[in-house]
Amino acid sequence: MRVTWSGGGSLSFRLDPDDEITGTASDDYPIKLAINSCTVGGVPDDAHPDLFAVAAWTIVAPWTRRRITFDRAVSAELAQVLYEGWGVEAGPVGAEPRRPGSRLAISYSGGADSVAAATMYPDAPFIHFRRVTHPRVPNRWPHYRSDVLAKLAEQTGRELSTVTSDLEYTLAEPRPGYPEHHAVAAGALLLADRLDLGGLGFGYEMGSRWLGGGRYLWRYTPDNPMWSPHGRWGRLFAAAGVHIVLPVGGVSEAVTMRLALGSGLRPQVRWCLRGTDGPCRVCGKCLYKELIQAAVERRPLDTPIKPDHPAARKYLKKPPYGGQEMIQYGLSRVPGIENTLFGPALDYFDVSEEATSWLEHCYPPALAEIPEPWRATAAAFVEANVGLMSGPEVRRVETWGA
Ligand SMILES: [Zn+2]
Repeated sequence: MRVTWSGGGSLSFRLDPDDEITGTASDDYPIKLAINSCTVGGVPDDAHPDLFAVAAWTIVAPWTRRRITFDRAVSAELAQVLYEGWGVEAGPVGAEPRRPGSRLAISYSGGADSVAAATMYPDAPFIHFRRVTHPRVPNRWPHYRSDVLAKLAEQTGRELSTVTSDLEYTLAEPRPGYPEHHAVAAGALLLADRLDLGGLGFGYEMGSRWLGGGRYLWRYTPDNPMWSPHGRWGRLFAAAGVHIVLPVGGVSEAVTMRLALGSGLRPQVRWCLRGTDGPCRVCGKCLYKELIQAAVERRPLDTPIKPDHPAARKYLKKPPYGGQEMIQYGLSRVPGIENTLFGPALDYFDVSEEATSWLEHCYPPALAEIPEPWRATAAAFVEANVGLMSGPEVRRVETWGA
């Protein structure tokens, strides 16, 4: 693989003969390459070379097999992490490592999880990734309202950098999206020198960090290769002086929902990518989040979705479901749930409140892995607003999926 950054955040890459246009992201999800160019806008041209290298790697890692040649020399430390983590030889080598900056920024999407992370650090600047169309790839996803999300980010009143990018269109399959989940940080990495960043906070919660949620494994994952500090991505970001920080990595989506809706950012919370004046209420994400919100607010489910709707059909089948711990949480707490489209799923779970109380507290090891400069703030916030898990609750996490 050969990568070239030109002015204006323009990235192009050329595959070597042993590279391939099919690959897997770090969560083993199969993906296919569409095009070998993209742009990351709103970033300076003079960042440290290791920042350019990591930003590029979030986009080209799935296609790279043996070696990567950057257009500027990287540090030996960064090249070593690429070799140890991926078996890829990186060069040329020759730069001094980047010293971590002093600040933490939040990678801000506007969803409940990133709002909760933001609430923990009221002074942290936001970096918002805004999808724009690619000049050479047709946009078959016009319902994705990135403009609405960007506007909401502006209304938060926080210090904000909006990065515009078409990098998601480098993916042909399954659809436009991040080649690696970390590609959402490509712009933040390139801004790290200008903003003096030493850490980047993501809204990944306990399901994503510890329970193998999302597209991943559905079992306890202390060595999660994407988000653990000692995993290959955690080490790579650290080598570039931008630590991955998961402020809400120890709490469930019930807690992030409660924190987000109880925060000053509540008017700007938006997890739906389709609605303009508000959430669309009829997509799968809206249904899932409505279940969680109803459980947090202890009220009946309020959705126009009928059981024959595509977003509801999966709950007629057997688990596992995505976000399964939160489905179980909702089933155990939403009044009248048996008379809703979630009724059939009741057969598969222990829906006592006791069996789901662990989802209201923080898993302590998640605080321990927040880098030292930002740990005490998170710990104090959790103590005041959430509370730590008991021993039996910790065991719920550590036996998940077993
Ligand atoms: Zn929606």
